[in-house]
Amino acid sequence: TDFTSLGLPAVLTDSLTAGGFTVPTKIQAQAIPKLLEGKDLMGIAQTGSGKTAAFGLPILAGLLTLTGKARPMTTRALILAPTRELAVQIDENIRKFAGSKMALSTVLVLGGVSRYHQVQKIAKGVDVVVATPGRLKDLMDDGKIKLNETRWLVLDEADRMLDMGFIAPVKHIAKAIGQRRQTMLFSATMAPEIADLAKGLLNDPVRVDA
Ligand code: AMP
Repeated sequence: TDFTSLGLPAVLTDSLTAGGFTVPTKIQAQAIPKLLEGKDLMGIAQTGSGKTAAFGLPILAGLLTLTGKARPMTTRALILAPTRELAVQIDENIRKFAGSKMALSTVLVLGGVSRYHQVQKIAKGVDVVVATPGRLKDLMDDGKIKLNETRWLVLDEADRMLDMGFIAPVKHIAKAIGQRRQTMLFSATMAPEIADLAKGLLNDPVRVDA
């Protein structure tokens, strides 16, 4: 299998090849076709499994179909991560997968740094926001980000978000997005709390074990 046979567009497979990605990992091979069909996903996966590309590439493929359409003055895809370090890594990887031919705007929404640039960028409209839940909820509460046009939601390392006490903000954020969305939830384990969260947020999901 290669990335083309998974149904990804040439713009993305070209940038993957350029980045040395030729063979999809297990989770990529299993998740990408289902996500391109629009299914929700429950992924049991660790760091190192290639999960970032598994959720990132289908989002990028979806964003490519919107090329030329007016960008809403908000965010089209939201990726939540438990830590700043992971959020930074996800943002870097997503931009790398998009390559230079795809015009992609992303913004990192993290605590501990100035909100000013985050808020300015979001107000102009961005394709992808990668955020930690606490800061994102702060911006929502202050009316600085609206999620009513958001079509993709990813919760990465949901088990760590749970351990860090982020489940309440995560649920609050997901509620603001509404039902017309595709949701992907990744966790290293399937603890009862994660199963509960998945039940509340995912609609008839495909389950993939890396
Ligand atoms: P992740 O689990 O998403 O953090 O990815 C782990 C590492 O594997 C990252 O350094 C990725 O760049 C790399 N990676 C992901 N998918 C592939 C692939 N299909 N081929 C080669 N490297 C990959």
